[in-house]
Amino acid sequence: MAYDVIVLGGGPAGLSAALNVRARGRTALVVSNPLSENPLWRAERIDNCLGLPGLSGEELLTALHHHAAASGAEFREGRALSALRSGESWYIGVGDDMVQGRAVVLAAGAVRGKKLPGEAELLGRGLSYCATCDGMLFRGKRVAVLGWTPSAKKEAEFLEGIGCRVVYFDRPKDGSIQGRERVESVTCGGVTEAVEGVFLLRPAMAPGDLLPGLAVENGFVAVDREMRTNLPGVFAAGDCTGGPLQVSKALGEGQVAGQKAAAFAARSGPAE
Ligand SMILES: Cc1cc2nc3c(=O)[nH]c(=O)nc-3n(C[C@H](O)[C@H](O)[C@H](O)COP(=O)(O)OP(=O)(O)OC[C@H]3O[C@@H](n4cnc5c(N)ncnc54)[C@H](O)[C@@H]3O)c2cc1C
Repeated sequence: MAYDVIVLGGGPAGLSAALNVRARGRTALVVSNPLSENPLWRAERIDNCLGLPGLSGEELLTALHHHAAASGAEFREGRALSALRSGESWYIGVGDDMVQGRAVVLAAGAVRGKKLPGEAELLGRGLSYCATCDGMLFRGKRVAVLGWTPSAKKEAEFLEGIGCRVVYFDRPKDGSIQGRERVESVTCGGVTEAVEGVFLLRPAMAPGDLLPGLAVENGFVAVDREMRTNLPGVFAAGDCTGGPLQVSKALGEGQVAGQKAAAFAARSGPAE
């Protein structure tokens, strides 16, 4: 099914965007990692959300999620890995699946951590961000999984299940990937392992990697007051657009982005 608006990220900004798309009578699909993997889930107490003092991160996120779901927003759990525009639509790769929308709201939060040495150079040459998408290419081979998400271990088990020999690094604090033409080895915490493939399983991707050509300033997505980015039909909201990295700012930007994305989709005609 094609949606009017695809929302990338199911935190405060994305859920606010989805609610506001629905309030404009348009369809919305939120693509996100599991709610319990949102960094805010761990917050013990939030006191600066007006009218909602003292909620834990888990309580606040659960309430926001229920509200967006009750509005009719749909949800697809998974990591968005790629985005491509063709004709009047955006096509978003989620795991080994593809979802389609007229407009996109990028609400993927702030990216924590820098790229590893060798990562940019060896991407697509033995280095992948998705075990279920690219795993078959490495059948019978020795691969490394560097996992920073709770579900990364499951992806490593999937690789073992299809015949890969997996070296697993749990939330490594450092790392580098070596190889001339293709991946040859990986080093984490001073330990070097010879491997033919490396899977980097992080909760988030840099916005410019997800949407090639996206204008980014100082690591944050550049937007105007209507939360428009430089790409047609792509809006952004929340921590990914810069500080203050706070819930209320994410909710407000999500509202504007949702409304503007819904209007963009309406101008483009009904989703096919
Ligand atoms: C421990 C802690 C305590 C905090 N306390 C407060 C506080 O008291 N008050 C306050 O105002 N703020 C607080 N914050 C900050 C607040 O959490 C953020 O400002 C807010 O969550 C930003 O919302 P967002 O929707 O922009 O991004 P996020 O909440 O980060 O949501 C983004 C979501 O998108 C998902 N995602 C990213 N990339 C992808 C992808 N490629 N595919 C699928 N999903 C993806 C992420 O996993 C995440 O679930 C706290 C943060 C933390 C970590």
